[in-house]
Amino acid sequence: MDLVEESPYRFRIDRHDPMRVPGVVFASRDLLPDAGADKSLEQVANVATLPGIVGASYAMPDVHWGYGFPIGGVAATDVEAGGVVSPGGVGFDISCGVRLLSADLDRAALRPRLDAVMDGLSESTPRGMGKGAVWHLAGRAELDGVLRGGSRYAVERGFGVQRDLDRCEDYGAVGDANPAQVSERAVERGARQVGSLGSGNHFLEVQAVEEVYDEAVARAFGLRAGQVCVMIHCGSRGLGHQICTDYVREMEKVMPAHGIHVPDRQLACAPVGSHEGRAYLGAMAAAANYARANRQLLAHAARQVFARVTGCDLDLVYDISHNLAKIETHEVDGTSRPLCVHRKGATRALPPGHPELPDDLRPAGQPVLIPGSMGTGSYVLTGVAGSPAWASTCHGAGRVQSRKQATKAVRGHDPRRELEAQDIAVRGASRRGLAEEMPAAYKDVTAVVAAAEGAGLCRKVARLAPLGVVKG
Ligand code: 5GP
Ligand code: MN
Ligand code: MN
Repeated sequence: MDLVEESPYRFRIDRHDPMRVPGVVFASRDLLPDAGADKSLEQVANVATLPGIVGASYAMPDVHWGYGFPIGGVAATDVEAGGVVSPGGVGFDISCGVRLLSADLDRAALRPRLDAVMDGLSESTPRGMGKGAVWHLAGRAELDGVLRGGSRYAVERGFGVQRDLDRCEDYGAVGDANPAQVSERAVERGARQVGSLGSGNHFLEVQAVEEVYDEAVARAFGLRAGQVCVMIHCGSRGLGHQICTDYVREMEKVMPAHGIHVPDRQLACAPVGSHEGRAYLGAMAAAANYARANRQLLAHAARQVFARVTGCDLDLVYDISHNLAKIETHEVDGTSRPLCVHRKGATRALPPGHPELPDDLRPAGQPVLIPGSMGTGSYVLTGVAGSPAWASTCHGAGRVQSRKQATKAVRGHDPRRELEAQDIAVRGASRRGLAEEMPAAYKDVTAVVAAAEGAGLCRKVARLAPLGVVKG
């Protein structure tokens, strides 16, 4: 793949047939994926062929190989110009995302009670492949409530407070969810998993604010140096996965009828306005709401543990999805256009002053939550004006080792003991699960965030250090 270095944090893949727009990769030279092992830059070029795509096919600095679209990919299509929606551009874990809560507690005060907090969180956080959930839904009506209402429904039912909703993307629920477009199989897989972490990369982490880069913005977010936080990373479990599977299949079948040809069948797609496009977006929104309710419920369980063990409450800083397609209005060549913005392993990052932000966050911009790894750290960022990629930025550090490579790399090591030697308490997760997620499996989150900031996608607000992790 030929890359043209446009500036220190911006590389271009020139448009060539059948690309409709160029590719743009925001990264430093060091962060560019190794073309021998990772085909994500080819995927950036493939995405550029999608009908209706505008601007460029973008990759964030944490880009790596994914299903059809790269993880760390952002692409917008013009809804009124035949633009398509592609389930592979959202990913299998629809609305997977991150929620950050802050405690009125300093890390030194937590220290003597950290083990008790971690034991409590371990007990109250259902995790693993299939297992258990915070909320046992009474029936299909309650599940439909979750699919339509997301965090709002969970709060209505007593799992949170009204203020939480002001601190959620879309105020806790995406509109236009259509539970009727969710298959029976997806419902079956999701019904018993609302309020559960899942496995592998998903986690609940107790952290402390290690460094503040912008005091005023941190204060607006409710964060200060030394403060204890809880970060939750999870998604839409089996329900979202099944919806993605269902619609990739369905769109594959109807693409010829819509006259669409894609270079990779994993890019299956349909026009946003078509029957299949609308059905997918309705089901995707339902899964997005499921994921938001999921994070709301896990936060509720964590709050009870903190109240019992420390006497402290947890305030929501923000909840953001990093696998989603949204219809948004953006300027294209000087005119306002309705775009279907796919962010897959990428986070929306609204700039200061944006009308969709709640009043108290508007001067600061939207909080952007970037998990790094359980052994290194995580970041809080904010959006900036004039962002070059539809107000989007990275979503994490991004994998550099496949799960298999990561497992091989820790042979002869004891990952649990290595984390504990760094004073990081570990709960849950098998040896293999931990091995797959060790810091070496990921890029350096500090370098990723520096590249994102250098590229003008966001600004650093604070860095968070891990104190303890509950792994799925
Ligand atoms: P993904 O949504 O792509 O699965 O993961 C998002 C990011 O979470 C990864 O790119 C990685 O940087 C980060 N991550 C994975 N496991 C952990 C963990 O246990 N703790 C923290 N803080 N970050 C993690
Ligand atoms: Mn996920
Ligand atoms: Mn995720």
